[in-house]
Amino acid sequence: MDNYTVYAPPYTIGEAAYDKIPEYARLYGTRAAVIGGRKAMKAAGDRIRAALKDSGIELSDFICYGTECTFEAARKLAAIPDVRDADMIFAVGGGKAIDTCKLVSLDLKKPYFAFPTIASNCSAASSLSIVYHEDGSFCDFVHFLDSARHVFIDTRIIAQAPEQYLWAGIGDTYAKYYEVDLSARGEDLPHYLALGVHMSRMCMETLVRHGEQALKDNRIGEPSYALSQAALAIIITTGWVSMLVARDHNMDYNGGAAHAFFYGLCNLPGFDEDHLHGVVVSFGVLLLLMMDGREEECRRLQDFNRKVGLPVKLSDIGVTIDEVRACAPAMTRDEDLEHYPYQVTEEMIIEAAKKLL
Ligand SMILES: [Zn+2]
Repeated sequence: MDNYTVYAPPYTIGEAAYDKIPEYARLYGTRAAVIGGRKAMKAAGDRIRAALKDSGIELSDFICYGTECTFEAARKLAAIPDVRDADMIFAVGGGKAIDTCKLVSLDLKKPYFAFPTIASNCSAASSLSIVYHEDGSFCDFVHFLDSARHVFIDTRIIAQAPEQYLWAGIGDTYAKYYEVDLSARGEDLPHYLALGVHMSRMCMETLVRHGEQALKDNRIGEPSYALSQAALAIIITTGWVSMLVARDHNMDYNGGAAHAFFYGLCNLPGFDEDHLHGVVVSFGVLLLLMMDGREEECRRLQDFNRKVGLPVKLSDIGVTIDEVRACAPAMTRDEDLEHYPYQVTEEMIIEAAKKLL
């Protein structure tokens, strides 16, 4: 086996998580460029500033990344003198803002720290950037970037974010377990893959246990234990798993039928804009389980979905069986199904969907 290095960024979580920033940032220099989403910097800016007061670390003015993670936006940011002259980048916000900062960090060869302000995806802890075109359509995946030097999760900021992010994040996160576990079925796994596959179980278990309470606490802005556990599952566990189970393009256990289902449906006009990714993916997991002959597990997950308001039947995502039929060929060709223990056919998808009407 070739040399192989595993990265899993350390994290600090809590209501005073930002107090730890100077301790770790100091290792990389004295000047940080702060880049993020407009709302995110409004939510986190004062707290970051307060944490770095008298720390000897100088912050740039807050720089808005734009509205979409594009190569163009990253290029523009990398040309800003405050960013060029900085020793490190503070990436503040949701997935798109942090993914944009990853591209800037790659371009300028500067380390970055991640400050997720919503618990919706694992961008802060993963080494992947999902790049879009200016019009919002998908452009490219940039894999195997450096991971963040440290992830700082302020639970008060997470608790005050709209609950819709957490809601969709729950579906996308438990999908990680079902997809990774199925991708790796029956295989003799080397250390890092086995770590990732075993750890992926926590993407599901933590959310089934704490998800409902976490949503309630998010609704009232309470940075509770349940909410912090859910945020860690969504941001950290999933990020670590995604790095561990992807060594290169030939051996990538990320993705599976739930994502293939979502991307297939994106062939329907306007589907992408009208639906939250994680919500549709959560239904895709039910379909995955039906195709895999695990009806009992599917019913168990439907019970959970019902409790948190995620979809339990096809009409809950506003899709008809004819639309599934129309998109089934694209689903079977999706690259998420490249590493799968068996061939997924159009008939299997349609039959499973019929059981979920
Ligand atoms: Zn996803």
